[in-house]
Amino acid sequence: MTEPVDVLIIGAGASGAAVAWSLAETRMRILCLEQGDWVKPTDYPTNGRDWEARQLTDFHCSPNVRRSVSDYPINDEDSPIKVANFNGVGGGTILFAGHFPRLHPSDFRVRSLDGVAEDWPIDYAALEPYYAQNDRIMGIASLAGDPAYPPKPAVLPPIPLGRTGEVLGRAFNELGWHWWPSDSAIATQDYDGRAKCINLGHCIAGCAQGAKASTDLTYWPQALRARVGLRTRCRVREITVNAAGMASGAVYYDQNGVEQFQPAEIVIIAGNGIGTPRLLLNSKSALFPDGLANSSGLVGKNLMFHPYATVQAYFDEPLDGYRGPHISIWSQEFYETDSTRGFVRGYTFQCNRGSGPVMNAHTGMRMGKIPWGVGHQAAAQRIFGRLSSLAVICEDLPEECNTVTLDPLLKDANGIPAPKINYRLGENSRRMGEHAIARATEMYRAAGAWNVHAEFPMRWAGWHLLGTARMGRDPERSVVNEWGRSHDVKNLFIVDGSVFVTSGGVNPTSTIQAIALYIADNIKKRLANLFD
Ligand SMILES: Cc1cc2nc3c(=O)[nH]c(=O)nc-3n(C[C@H](O)[C@H](O)[C@H](O)COP(=O)(O)OP(=O)(O)OC[C@H]3O[C@@H](n4cnc5c(N)ncnc54)[C@H](O)[C@@H]3O)c2cc1C
Ligand code: SF4
Repeated sequence: MTEPVDVLIIGAGASGAAVAWSLAETRMRILCLEQGDWVKPTDYPTNGRDWEARQLTDFHCSPNVRRSVSDYPINDEDSPIKVANFNGVGGGTILFAGHFPRLHPSDFRVRSLDGVAEDWPIDYAALEPYYAQNDRIMGIASLAGDPAYPPKPAVLPPIPLGRTGEVLGRAFNELGWHWWPSDSAIATQDYDGRAKCINLGHCIAGCAQGAKASTDLTYWPQALRARVGLRTRCRVREITVNAAGMASGAVYYDQNGVEQFQPAEIVIIAGNGIGTPRLLLNSKSALFPDGLANSSGLVGKNLMFHPYATVQAYFDEPLDGYRGPHISIWSQEFYETDSTRGFVRGYTFQCNRGSGPVMNAHTGMRMGKIPWGVGHQAAAQRIFGRLSSLAVICEDLPEECNTVTLDPLLKDANGIPAPKINYRLGENSRRMGEHAIARATEMYRAAGAWNVHAEFPMRWAGWHLLGTARMGRDPERSVVNEWGRSHDVKNLFIVDGSVFVTSGGVNPTSTIQAIALYIADNIKKRLANLFD
């Protein structure tokens, strides 16, 4: 047994880092256990010429392909969308593209506005100060004045539009549709010890320049300086409870595979929308036979991914190729509900720059644009640097049939039962995807592109892991309350994407971290009578 701590955080990713940083000022004894390791910037694929090939092997976004010692297997055979994550200090922010939109105010009120799913117990105004605080710490590049949002200040100048942004922006203008430079977690100027982006354009394989705001570079250095402890290669098996039904600590395996027990006064889970329900379901006891914090039976239910469509097209004129951050501009023309469209809620168009030579060849061959043999080189040259792709982020509505459970057979390297995903595409999402593909095709035609090609849902796009331990006021319809505390276990908190009630139609990390900071502040305010 190791020294007891006041606060034990499980997971050092986007939300674990934020909550650790925020609580550090209390001077409590805080420890974070993380199953993965630190990643050295020199180990990123972006340092070598094989950076694209390594995204298909040891830096693949699926843990089932990567299979590193930090990873746990996930049975996602019964899902058309495969789970993507990263296990290590920084969590998913190591691989993320840094696209950093906020939810809209309407996203918190979908039941009231559209009669579907449930309203959140909090609103945009409650999170607004935490969005702003998070933007400052992560160093968010944006352009103030986006009419799709309430006013929000810019921390750093926006990322360059580049040729992609200029060409597609003109097409959106022609159609009279909304577009705006993306909010991005990428330093466009030297910021807080991070060097500015030099438009290398490999963000998803990790940024060796250090310009992308992964939390190993933003929150963690500050939290460690404030004496938060971080123990890596420690995989938590279960959270333990005492006779009074309070969390008492966690059993974990250290880097040598030796079982350890860490006692704690407060336990905070930050394991993401898959890792968190897995841990709760693995934490069975006589008091909690169905898993910890699961009296509602909702732990692991309502999994939301954001079904993505990708719509790609070629231009005659050269675009940016792979240079520059992935995303240039977004359009939220079709974000809010319009009942004439045949579905509720909506989606964001995320305009991506192109790809490197390997993916250029791969996509070109898939689209039938590059033959083998005679003409191969000439065809590859003709399309290189001329591909544009729109990613469509469709709002995913919560459905109880979309679940994370424990696989009866599959286990990780420590023998801990692995998660099993059951997910099907909802009818609303299917109609939304069809609408988005038709509108994206219209936009590409207006832009003068050719060979428009769409895929929906994207297979390797289970990046956003949400909803599996949702927040709410009613203990029968939610797992944690409106400030992240378990309804069942008063000293247990969840701060990651699991607590989302609905998914919105945007990337979630900005909101995940704002929620983590908001929950940390609530813990601080209520410390004196936390367990009343
Ligand atoms: C390729 C890719 C691109 C993405 N692009 C974007 C983007 O552009 N914009 C955006 O908003 N989001 C993006 N995302 C998603 C983003 O990374 C996640 O939303 C975010 O990291 C989730 O934060 P989290 O704190 O919930 O979990 P994570 O960041 O996943 O952190 C969870 C941590 O908990 C650890 N953990 C889990 N279980 C245990 C255990 N039992 N014991 C010890 N440790 C444990 C894990 O190892 C992990 O490090 C992307 C993700 C990927 C993979
Ligand atoms: S484009 Fe910028 S943020 Fe992305 S990897 Fe290159 S330097 Fe880093």
